[in-house]
Amino acid sequence: MKDSRRRSTGAQPPQKSTPSANYRNRVNIQRDRAGASSDDEHQQNSEDENGLPNIQLEDLVGMIQNTEKNILLLNQARLQALEHADKILKEKEALQQEINILEIKLSEKGAQSELSSKGMSDAEVLDFDVLKEENMLLKDDITFFKAKLIEITETEESLFKLEKERALLDASLRELECAFIAAQSDMLKLGPMQHDAWWEKVENLEELLESTANQVEHATLVLDGYHDFQDKVDKLEASLGATNISEFCLYLVDVLKKRVKSIEERFQACNHEMHSQIELYEHSIVEFHDTLSKLIKESEKKSMEHYAEGMPSEFWSRISLLIDGWSLEKKLSNNDASILREMAWKRDIRLREAYLSSRGMTERELIDSFLKMALPGTSSGLHIVHIAAEMAPVAKVGGLADVISGLGKALQKKGNLVEIILPKYDCMQHNQINNLKVLDVVVQSYFEGNMFANKIWTGTVEGLPVYFIEPQHPGKFFWRAQYYGEHDDFKRFSYFSRVALELLYQSGKKVDIIHCHDWQTAFVAPLYWDVYANLGFNSARICFTCHNFEYQGTAPAQDLAYCGLDVEHLDRPDRMRDNSHGRINVVKGAIVYSNIVTTVSPTYAQEVRSEGGRGLQDTLKIHSKKFVGILNGIDTDTWNPSNDRFLKVQYSANDLYGKSANKAALRKQLKMSSANASQPLVGCITRLVPQKGVHLIRHAIYKTAELGGQFVLLGSSPVPNIQREFEGIADQFQNDNNIRLLLKYDDALSHMIFAASDMFIVPSMFEPCGLTQMIAMRYGSVPVVRKTGGLNDSVFDYDDETIPMELRDGFTFLKADEQGFDSALERAFNYYHRKPEVWKQLVQKDMKIDFSWDTSASQYEDIYQRAAARARAAT
Ligand code: ADP
Repeated sequence: MKDSRRRSTGAQPPQKSTPSANYRNRVNIQRDRAGASSDDEHQQNSEDENGLPNIQLEDLVGMIQNTEKNILLLNQARLQALEHADKILKEKEALQQEINILEIKLSEKGAQSELSSKGMSDAEVLDFDVLKEENMLLKDDITFFKAKLIEITETEESLFKLEKERALLDASLRELECAFIAAQSDMLKLGPMQHDAWWEKVENLEELLESTANQVEHATLVLDGYHDFQDKVDKLEASLGATNISEFCLYLVDVLKKRVKSIEERFQACNHEMHSQIELYEHSIVEFHDTLSKLIKESEKKSMEHYAEGMPSEFWSRISLLIDGWSLEKKLSNNDASILREMAWKRDIRLREAYLSSRGMTERELIDSFLKMALPGTSSGLHIVHIAAEMAPVAKVGGLADVISGLGKALQKKGNLVEIILPKYDCMQHNQINNLKVLDVVVQSYFEGNMFANKIWTGTVEGLPVYFIEPQHPGKFFWRAQYYGEHDDFKRFSYFSRVALELLYQSGKKVDIIHCHDWQTAFVAPLYWDVYANLGFNSARICFTCHNFEYQGTAPAQDLAYCGLDVEHLDRPDRMRDNSHGRINVVKGAIVYSNIVTTVSPTYAQEVRSEGGRGLQDTLKIHSKKFVGILNGIDTDTWNPSNDRFLKVQYSANDLYGKSANKAALRKQLKMSSANASQPLVGCITRLVPQKGVHLIRHAIYKTAELGGQFVLLGSSPVPNIQREFEGIADQFQNDNNIRLLLKYDDALSHMIFAASDMFIVPSMFEPCGLTQMIAMRYGSVPVVRKTGGLNDSVFDYDDETIPMELRDGFTFLKADEQGFDSALERAFNYYHRKPEVWKQLVQKDMKIDFSWDTSASQYEDIYQRAAARARAAT
């Protein structure tokens, strides 16, 4: 086609068409048209003149005019075709982009479909929401694509029309060419002038033709491109069909449906299970309520039974404190108070019922209801008042504190009315006191020529009724953040002793036994007999226990006067003057003035009759009839490995697992080596004072290390150079994970050490009783002790054949030197390593020994009774 058109231009090379040329052509065509009528006339004339047929020229002019029209039409068609072509090109580009996106998606879907078909789990391949979203996008794409296809089809139709027009144009062009050839030959017959003009016109026409041909050619190219594009679209449609998007979608829908179905099924199953669980739960709630009401009824029944048997000591202590309070506040007469007190002490059921039904009553109504029952009664028990400087666990420094609560509780259990009077220290463990309250009364007491007010607080400690005295003295005697060690200790405790008696005196109590302890309350004995007995307060008998003859409370004689004692009367060798110097000695005074004098172990009682008496041996000999040694017990409620709250694991003699568990726990807590569970652990808990054999304790640390054991020391010293010395040793062993020195007071830690240790050392120079060896045995830690004082009464050497086998419970040594200690410790290590079965039996035997206060309290009760009987006989 192209070739034929080129050929049609003939020998004349086509002139390049330019916009100005086109304009010129148009002007020429118009001018030609304008001149056509005159030319027609001229032609008619010239036909006549030149003899050429007129009809031929007219035809030629008509043909040219037609050609002009056709060219115009062609031009319009060309512009339209160009517009279409541009549009198509843009659409093609857009579609191409769509196709690319679709192709990417298809390949992705294809990969997913492949994964699904490979049988990967639904959960891995499909995420319900993502698939749903993708499916929607795909759907949108397909809809869009379809719309585009419709558009393309429409474009195809318009192109088809265009093609038809082009064919028509081709045909008319061919006609034109034929006519042109004919016209050319006719032109040859025309004159040269006309020839030039016509030639120019023909040239213009040729140019026009050429440019039209170019346009047509361009349109053909576009058309060809469109055909390619059409092919691509066809292919795409085919590939769309082949990749089976709809099939994939159907697959997805199918999977999703299945998933929805399984979710529905699971939901129903869950629902069902939930309902049955709720039913079960409702059922168990009903059961729980039933059991709870049964338990409540049972507990009510039990508590009624309990009430019938008697209320706990705590209850009776509160009642007696209540009565004492009313008596001191003068709400009760002394006589009524003493009757009610006795009823409380005898645990009179009527008092209990009156108190229990007092809810909502005023204090006056309660007093009246109590008074109705105030009838005299008799009792075989005793009214015992302990006046002391310590009481465990509220104010504890050492063994004295344990004795006060342990003996007090044991005596109370035996049916005695036991009361304690303590200073109200600022540093005491207030959280160990129940129902602490201040009485609405102040007790005035004499001191240094003046009367001083004292606040009286009451509360219960370990179920015992306790009075705490808070002096309103400017000396702030018990606001020192420590119990002892103050420069004015003599003043502080002589003051306290006086107020304690004043309190008893003012309360009008008919006390049987006033039991004072150690030098701090030794003032009570001379004060009672020299001051209060003269005031008519003389029903009581005084018991004095010296827990340690090392501390005797000496001072210049005149200091006795502070608390109202008569110095002249007492500063005598047979009374209170110290046996070796001119000072007065309070412990000596107590020995002289008490009805009963005791110390804390039989062996120590023996020892103090000689040089162990620290100068008081002669006095003790003089008063030997009233002097007795009674071995302390331990508070088996506080020291009980089967319910000790400080332990990691509780245990008993029959179940020793807990012992090794506590050992492991302590090692961990103190960052000690745990490599060898059977490496023996040696414990020591003590005040670091010369009495406790400080040099042997120090030696024991090195000896234990040498024997391949572990050592834990818990203790502190009131003596600065001893404290410093042990701090140095602690530093020395800082990086040794077998030795730990804890230079402090720590009650909780002491429980853990007793439980964790395999052996326990007490190498004392002298030991009035010693509690730690007994506590150690109760916790299955075998004692290694020096044969002295109470240690000699409680620890019997395992290898001593002079002692019955059943009594042998530890390892002892006599000489207070390193060799003596070494021999005992080495024997203990030998048994531990070489005879583990024997060792285990020894541990179990020690744990079963009865160190309770029961036996000791009976002995005290016995001597109290005899003294009280003598007192009754005297009145
Ligand atoms: P003492 O001569 O000190 O009265 P005892 O053996 O009669 O000696 O009583 C000592 C009491 O004090 C025991 O209950 C012991 O556990 C306790 N104790 C001593 N030192 C400490 C300490 N550092 N931390 C905790 N408790 C201690």
